[in-house]
Amino acid sequence: MLSIDVFTSDYKPIASTVQGWDARQRATWPASTATLVHGPREAVLVDALITAKEAHDLTEWIRATGKVLTTVYVTHGHADHFLGLSVVLDAFPDAVAVALPEVVPLAEEQLSGPYLAYWESLFPGGLPDRQVAPRPLTDDVIGVDGHELRPVRVGQSDTDPSSVVHVPDLDAVVGGDVAYNGIHMWLAQTDRAARSRWQRALDLVEGLRPQRLVAGHQHPGADETDVAGMIAASRRYLTDFDAAVEAGGGAADVIRAMTAAHGERGNPYTLYVSATSQYPAETADGSR
Ligand SMILES: [Zn+2]
Repeated sequence: MLSIDVFTSDYKPIASTVQGWDARQRATWPASTATLVHGPREAVLVDALITAKEAHDLTEWIRATGKVLTTVYVTHGHADHFLGLSVVLDAFPDAVAVALPEVVPLAEEQLSGPYLAYWESLFPGGLPDRQVAPRPLTDDVIGVDGHELRPVRVGQSDTDPSSVVHVPDLDAVVGGDVAYNGIHMWLAQTDRAARSRWQRALDLVEGLRPQRLVAGHQHPGADETDVAGMIAASRRYLTDFDAAVEAGGGAADVIRAMTAAHGERGNPYTLYVSATSQYPAETADGSR
């Protein structure tokens, strides 16, 4: 029998990197999850967070289960899902870190000078001292005590390529950044075409018919079992964002419209970055 346990790291203060963000509002990084799928003896971790502190806390949490960590699977190449890897692997030196082969070059890119400098600027002094990228997964499945975890390619989420992990024995999906649960979605690297491909990724997750969907970014305590609601809300967020951009105003209008429709979601800073990224020549107060 398998079980799933989810470690949620809360919203974290960051140094804002975009001009025009209201300095009276604290810029934060969204709450993030790392998920342990475990049997009687073995465990597999999906994603590994970003700061040294949360990776240490995650490591203690895994250790407390008494399970043997065999594998860390990284869903996509964004640093906030794997910079904590070195801390986890130092604690569990027999574990291997893997990702889909096409994800590995993106993960490696995040560890290169300018990218790593960006992450360091968000979390000054907060990242682990050493960085490692996942290695290419060579198999279609990851075993846990004789059960199967199936990485599934989904293409575009908040980056492309992305994947999710299907756990058929539990009717569960560990969803990376395909669906967000109660948190603004990171659209900064998307255009309309990418957001349309993202809808197809949601189709793929829906097609797996999970009873439980763990989002890579979910509000602490969020319900993971209202899968239909989570997918529908994620779809609506994408189409509302398209409509807000196409309405022809500027970033401030997009922020207003999205806040009116989705203001209950956590991490407004994400919306700010998503909106301003659509208007590279403008700041959110409308000045150019
Ligand atoms: Zn993410």
